[in-house]
Amino acid sequence: MQPTAATIIGAGPAGSLLGIFLARRGFAPTLYERRPDMRRTDIAAGRSINLALADRGMYALKRAGVLESVRSLMIPMRGRLLHDLDGATSLQPYGKDDSEVIYSISRGELNKRLMTEFERISGIPIRFRQNYRGADFVRGTLTVLDEGRGSTHIITAAPVIGADGASSAVREAMTHAGLARATEDVLSHGYKELSIAPGADGRHQLDANALHIWPRGGFMLIALPNTDGSFTATLFLPLEGADSFAALTTAPQVRSFFARHFPDVGRLIPDLEGEFFEHLTGFMVTVRCNPWQVARRQLLIGDAAHAIVPFHGQGMNCAFEDCVVLDDLLGGHDGWGAIFDEFERVRAPNADAIATMALENYVEMRDTVRHPKFQLQKALALELERRYPQRFIPRYSMVMFHHEIPYAVALERGRVQQQILDTLCAGVESIDQVDWQRAAELVHAKLPKF
Ligand SMILES: Cc1cc2nc3c(=O)[nH]c(=O)nc-3n(C[C@H](O)[C@H](O)[C@H](O)COP(=O)(O)OP(=O)(O)OC[C@H]3O[C@@H](n4cnc5c(N)ncnc54)[C@H](O)[C@@H]3O)c2cc1C
Repeated sequence: MQPTAATIIGAGPAGSLLGIFLARRGFAPTLYERRPDMRRTDIAAGRSINLALADRGMYALKRAGVLESVRSLMIPMRGRLLHDLDGATSLQPYGKDDSEVIYSISRGELNKRLMTEFERISGIPIRFRQNYRGADFVRGTLTVLDEGRGSTHIITAAPVIGADGASSAVREAMTHAGLARATEDVLSHGYKELSIAPGADGRHQLDANALHIWPRGGFMLIALPNTDGSFTATLFLPLEGADSFAALTTAPQVRSFFARHFPDVGRLIPDLEGEFFEHLTGFMVTVRCNPWQVARRQLLIGDAAHAIVPFHGQGMNCAFEDCVVLDDLLGGHDGWGAIFDEFERVRAPNADAIATMALENYVEMRDTVRHPKFQLQKALALELERRYPQRFIPRYSMVMFHHEIPYAVALERGRVQQQILDTLCAGVESIDQVDWQRAAELVHAKLPKF
């Protein structure tokens, strides 16, 4: 398609990366971002919030030519390191070998580098403190509030790509005008970020190459490493009930809750009570919206279109994959209308699939990982992959290590594979007791080659 101007609302991970893809194709994207420039203002007040970057996200960064510029931020995590209540630990590797790892990366630092790369490649400065307030879909204009000057201006802009996150104002404008329907399902559990300080020697106090989980059945704590020797821990807990955020309202309650459920971690978080009350409790939401576009002139991507709960570590990875799909379509179609149609056709089933898998993964992380049956099935799944690599790839691996397998395929094949695992593990206590003849028959009968 011939390059045109384009307007992107939101210079978060998705908006910044899409800007890079567009600029590389010669388009002239303008990015409007509500917040001040985080490269000059410490928006997160010194807190380091990190997330898991996996194959889909890395593939997108590589395609955009920016993977190397963020590599120094990436810490490999080779598996889940489970912490039992009695302090015992065990590592559950993520993949079939050391090549299959995921990476912890600082969300803020990644975002800053993407912004810098966007400005370098496009030569167009990002417009900060510009708050999208609404659209006139008949006239094709946007209203933007300049937060610095306090003035509102009207912009004639098409196409507009809304990359403004889970609480998207672009989506809100569409639903408000009756042009789309959206649901926001808020999980009954919330989260709170806490920091595990580096040791006296400045190094990590826990294994730096693992994602740590303290699964406690109805809730859990996790921790991902940062490059400065600290970890960002996140407590996921019901909002209401006996063990809940609502029940933790005083410092002694918080201290005693950690002493009961996470005795080994409490002492690693020096300012536990201070951070607990200072840091807001976050909500998690699954957003479903239909359609994602208006009059073929405005499109939603990333969390704005399909925010998911964070338990598969895929929200940003999925948002980056959106950018790859748009980039592919720009190479093969003429006109934004056709591109937006095709984007929604291809992406909507995949966004639905990862939303489902992300919700399912919460139960796995906080509870099922502890059970011997889960561990047996996990070991069997990796063994079946070793024996039949063209037919059986564990669902987690399809999602995290195989960008070429769409999420919807991972969900579908994952269901078939789960039936195979259930059949083979019925009445079996260890992997040596598995009937390998039956395994071969089931895999060949039910799973066509990839
Ligand atoms: C606790 C938690 C853990 C997570 N862990 C992971 C993980 O491990 N791996 C993973 O892949 N994902 C993870 N995610 C999800 C990930 O953070 C999101 O999917 C990702 O940030 C989405 O990127 P985005 O650019 O679409 O939206 P956002 O990151 O929300 O960016 C939106 C941008 O738009 C701007 N904006 C908002 N409104 C306006 C407006 N009106 N005008 C102009 N600009 C506006 C915002 O300031 C922001 O810069 C996690 C999320 C949470 C909550």
